[in-house]
This record gives sequence, C-alpha cells and structure tokens, in this order.
Amino acid sequence: MRKPILIANWKMNGSLQSNQALMVRLLPRLRLFRKTMDLAVCPPFPYLFQVRDLLGYTGIMLGAQNASSYVSGAYTGEVSATMLQEMGCRYVLVGHSERRALYGETSQDVSAKFRSVLGLGLIPVLCVGETLEERENNQTRTVIEQQIQAVIDEVGLASLARGVVAYEPVWAIGTGETATPEQVSLVHQDIRQFVARCAPEASGDISQELRVIYGGSVKPGNAFELFSLPDVDGGLIGGASLHADDFGTIAGALAEASGVLTGECETE
Ligand code: PEP
Repeated sequence: MRKPILIANWKMNGSLQSNQALMVRLLPRLRLFRKTMDLAVCPPFPYLFQVRDLLGYTGIMLGAQNASSYVSGAYTGEVSATMLQEMGCRYVLVGHSERRALYGETSQDVSAKFRSVLGLGLIPVLCVGETLEERENNQTRTVIEQQIQAVIDEVGLASLARGVVAYEPVWAIGTGETATPEQVSLVHQDIRQFVARCAPEASGDISQELRVIYGGSVKPGNAFELFSLPDVDGGLIGGASLHADDFGTIAGALAEASGVLTGECETE
C-alpha cells in the first residue's frame, strides 16, 4: 500500500514572525496524522533553519522548493542539494510549473535536479502538468509523458519511483480553478499506465509503488473528493498551506480518504 503524503509549498511567502505563528497553530493539527501519512513543509530557503527547529522531533519533515543540479561552485543565487541535506531537508520539489514557466527550466534541467536530489538520499517531488493551451489542444498526455520520460532517461525507472510525482495542471495552480475529479483521475491513471508501459517486465511493481499526488487549488472543500480517487496518493498544497486550519483540514481529508484515520489520540 502506498503511504499517503501531503506537502505544503509556501512559495515565496512568510516572515520569521508569521512562520512561527503558522507553525504554532499547525503542529497540533498535524499531530494526529504524522504516523499514518508523510507530511512535509517547504518554506523559502532563508527560513529552512527556523522551520527545522519548529518541526523538531514531530516527525513532520522539512522540504525545499528547488535545488541546483550542481554540487558547488560559481552558480550565484543557487542552492545545492548538499546544502539542503545539511539543513535537514527530506523532500525537494523539482520542476514546479512556476520554475518551468518563470525561470525557463527545461525537462532536462529538471531531470538533472532530480538526479542530484536523489543522489543525496533526499526525495525529489517531480512536478508535471499541462498548460491550459496544451489541454485545449489535447496535448495533456503527451506533455506529461515527456516530462516524466526525461527523468526516466536521466535516472532510470526504478529511481523515478524513489521520488514522488505531483500532477499539477498549470491552469489550476493558484487560480482557484481545480481540475475536476474526472480530469484528475484520468491523468493519474495515465501516469501509472505510462510507467507500467516503460517497464513491462516490472510493471506490476514500479507503477503500483510510485506515489502520484495532486496539486492545484486544493482547499478544505474539495480535498476529500480529490483524495478519494484511487490513483491519488496525496497532495501538494500551495495557497491553502499558509492557513493552519485549512491545511489541518486538508490533512484530515487525506487521512479519511485513505482510510488511515486511526482515532489515535496523542497526548504528549
Ligand atoms: C503549488 O504551489 O504547488 C500549488 C498547488 O498551489 P495552489 O495550491 O495555491 O494552487
């Protein structure tokens, strides 16, 4: 069984003061779920240290929003996966659509990042998704398969499955427009089938092992329906992750949809 996973992407938001306030409200809400799902928070780089301290030994992981594919050197403004590892990161987003669209990251760049993150034992979260124009031109499947294929070419199929794939339709990110359950279901199924086709001899294993999560305007009101879809293993949450109550409710929806609500009540 694939373990559910929920990741908060704070994007370029926060301050020392607001992070502290958010975490103080959030941690008690996540406590119930920390054993039955993987939970991670990805703050902007300067706050990694602060958030790492706030997370302490809660079992909730630290993540980063990006990493350089290089180890060190003359790459002004970049941050290497080695540095992120040293800061205590467990997850690193690679290929978020905002990186692809605003900073010109190609699938080759993203694949190199995936490799360097995985090489350090961290978990890359590969973001894939189509623009509205690509969807309207019936290119959704082709675009996503190309984005995933580039990573398979770089690291191989088995290594892809050591990461997480996040399906994030570009037109649904930060827009308040969510993909319908039918649209999400179809793409998630396609991703699993594509992976299975890439390794016919091991199809049962790798395509079933791979965690595929959804991101794009997930909110308390739509989370349960989306997370109940059979091929959806969790979520990558942007805007709603900046609100402790919303993110806590979304975590609850994932627990309920995945059948991992234990009723466990921790008192410490
Ligand atoms: C994201 O940033 O990955 C994201 C899904 O954002 P939002 O939830 O705000 O659409």
